[in-house]
Amino acid sequence: MLPPTEDPERGGTGRLLVRLSNWLGDVLLARPLLHALRRALPEAEVAAVGPAALLELLRADRTIDRAEAWPAPGGGREDLARRLRAWRPTAAVVLPPSFSSALFAWQTGAPVRIGFRGEWRDALLTHPFLRPARGELHLSGEYLALGGPLGAAAGPLPALEPPPEARERAAELLSRRGLKGAPYAILGPGASYGPAKRWAAERFAALGRALAGRGLGVLVCGNGAERELCLNVAAEVGGGALALAGETDLGLQAGLCEGTAVAVCNDSGLAHLSASTGAPTVVIFGSTSSAWTAPLGPRVRIVQRAPVCAPCFRRTCRIGYRCLTAVEVGEVWRACAEAGAAT
Ligand code: SF4
Repeated sequence: MLPPTEDPERGGTGRLLVRLSNWLGDVLLARPLLHALRRALPEAEVAAVGPAALLELLRADRTIDRAEAWPAPGGGREDLARRLRAWRPTAAVVLPPSFSSALFAWQTGAPVRIGFRGEWRDALLTHPFLRPARGELHLSGEYLALGGPLGAAAGPLPALEPPPEARERAAELLSRRGLKGAPYAILGPGASYGPAKRWAAERFAALGRALAGRGLGVLVCGNGAERELCLNVAAEVGGGALALAGETDLGLQAGLCEGTAVAVCNDSGLAHLSASTGAPTVVIFGSTSSAWTAPLGPRVRIVQRAPVCAPCFRRTCRIGYRCLTAVEVGEVWRACAEAGAAT
């Protein structure tokens, strides 16, 4: 084990920097690493660098002492590196595989810099790790392995707790929309990555009608760019289904996910968020690998009909999206029951 601290015999009084990804799903898959570092180095001060909204989402985990928002392009990255350099990190763990993230760690002056090999960055890292082939190890395991030299080891992963004020806002929204105390399902028909991750909207709508038929309210959720898609799905579900895409921030969405009878989503950030809260979550995979990036949670069910061409990791498909068209509504319905959906 590396000496991450100034005084290893005291069990960890060092300053540990963790550069997180900019993607919601990847950040939630880094939770096992953050919890493991906290267990291994309980006295260390841990600073995490990532998008502000994602850092806020992790607050209740208490794995981070210092949240440093990653600035937008062109604004303040040198300042942030300078500020962290003054903080004198004793080690940095770099999760993104980009050259710029390794350069950033080097700029902070951390004497120990751990990350994945590649993109001409090995010289910037003191401990470059050879990454396994995609899907050989779950991404959360890859991240955890980066913490290995600091003593991080696998352990229990608690459910993600939405901020208390977000829980209140979720309850208030449900009350305002006539769903106070009523069971509801969440549908997530979007996926920013591209159509090779998106199950057909009409199948989501058919599933929504079946869920509504069991007495569940239906919330069709996503980001602002997915609003039209969600409006269309909600309209096709009918019966008062609500399209909330673009109306929810991450905290509020987590609050809604936490209380859902079931969430059915494509392989997207929303799926990771729902799974992390412990909600029954069904995730439909298309061109990507569930072995690599399946959401983490106690009640997750994956639906994947991988043809021989899968996973191809393509955003679009030239041969007819067989990986998605092969997934039938009935199969997803059964997965809802297997996930423990309260239907
Ligand atoms: S090539 Fe195969 S795995 Fe890739 S998107 Fe098309 S059908 Fe799906």
